[in-house]
Amino acid sequence: MAGQPDSGITPGGEHGGFRDVLAPGHARRGKPPLHFTDMDDRARQEAAGKLGLPRFRVSQLANHYFSHLSIDPDTFSDFPSASRQEAAERFFPALITPVTSQVADRGMTVKTLWKLFDGSQIESVLMRYPKRVTLCISSQVGCGMGCPFCATGQLGLTRNMSTGEILEQVRAAAVAVRQGRLAGGPGRLSNVVFMGMGEPMGNYRSVLSAVRQISALPPHGFGISARNITVSTVGVVPGIRKLAGEGIPVRLAVSLHAPSDALRDELVPMNRRFDTEQVLDAAHDYYLASKRRVSIEYALMRGINDQAEHARLLAKRLNHYGDDWAHVNPIPLNPIEGSRWTASEPEDERRFLEILHAAGIAATLRDTRGSDIDGACGQLAAKTGQVH
Ligand code: SAH
Ligand code: SF4
Repeated sequence: MAGQPDSGITPGGEHGGFRDVLAPGHARRGKPPLHFTDMDDRARQEAAGKLGLPRFRVSQLANHYFSHLSIDPDTFSDFPSASRQEAAERFFPALITPVTSQVADRGMTVKTLWKLFDGSQIESVLMRYPKRVTLCISSQVGCGMGCPFCATGQLGLTRNMSTGEILEQVRAAAVAVRQGRLAGGPGRLSNVVFMGMGEPMGNYRSVLSAVRQISALPPHGFGISARNITVSTVGVVPGIRKLAGEGIPVRLAVSLHAPSDALRDELVPMNRRFDTEQVLDAAHDYYLASKRRVSIEYALMRGINDQAEHARLLAKRLNHYGDDWAHVNPIPLNPIEGSRWTASEPEDERRFLEILHAAGIAATLRDTRGSDIDGACGQLAAKTGQVH
């Protein structure tokens, strides 16, 4: 339907059991400029041909982008100087421009606000840990899933991001880490999580192409192993099943947040379309297909979903499928402004974990990195600027 974002969940956004919550400015904005990573090999050859460039130049460009992380024509020293500029403009248009960066955790966490071609704004968060460097990226401008405790959900969905826009967050972060812009000196970006703004399954095609190009070895991709990439979903069952069929060993995270339908209906509106049984069935099938433990995300909200009865029911529902297939990540809620949901008491968090452990379920409390700069999970809302 003209003017409606293509979410892939609710074509046209007008019909079906679930409708994206749309941002006021969702109306058609045109497509971002086509980027090298938005094209398949044939389209790249064709575009090169139009610039009078032979085929092998495409391989050189791939090498500049994925191996050297460069889009700067001055570095294309293997290119005839007359065509460097033109090639860079055609294949590597500026898709994301930094607006502001905020630093936390003594320089170990950096949140960047990016402006897109149409003035839309999105955020990504780079986090250094003792043994890895993780980038949390956005896949949509806003989100249409309407979870009431999530800052992004309050924005509604403006539009899907292109593969190029998603990948540029990764390239920029990889450069920043390599240049030592995070505390701790130069390093290598090792992990990517789709836990920023947006519902990845609502933008399946671009997300999948991004996953493939993040994981492919240079010069076809950034060479970050699929095993170190996590796709987090609110529980869009067809998306989970489709991803299982791709045969990519990417980690799946499912944002459950509640062990029963009565409670989850309230916390996660999408549950009315795909209930906890359908979501857990799909998650377990993903485990069987991928042989990778599924992460169950669970934001602990004081007095809402953090009591002993909730932990016991969660354990029962997970153990129903067998042992050792899921890893629960309870995370104290990062409260968003003006929300009635708030973080659990530490003793309730502890008890929640103890009950899961006693039931034989792997569970680790997730840290709330960057929460003081609104950079933690669920807090990304690009609020230093207008999404217009
Ligand atoms: N839309 C996807 C991915 C982005 S949200 C999803 O929902 O899975 C990334 C994670 O942050 C999800 O697990 C989400 O439930 C969680 N989250 C959202 N708001 C939060 C908040 N206020 N505090 C803690 N986690 C939150
Ligand atoms: Fe969207 Fe995920 Fe936030 Fe729900 S939790 S509104 S699905 S970003």
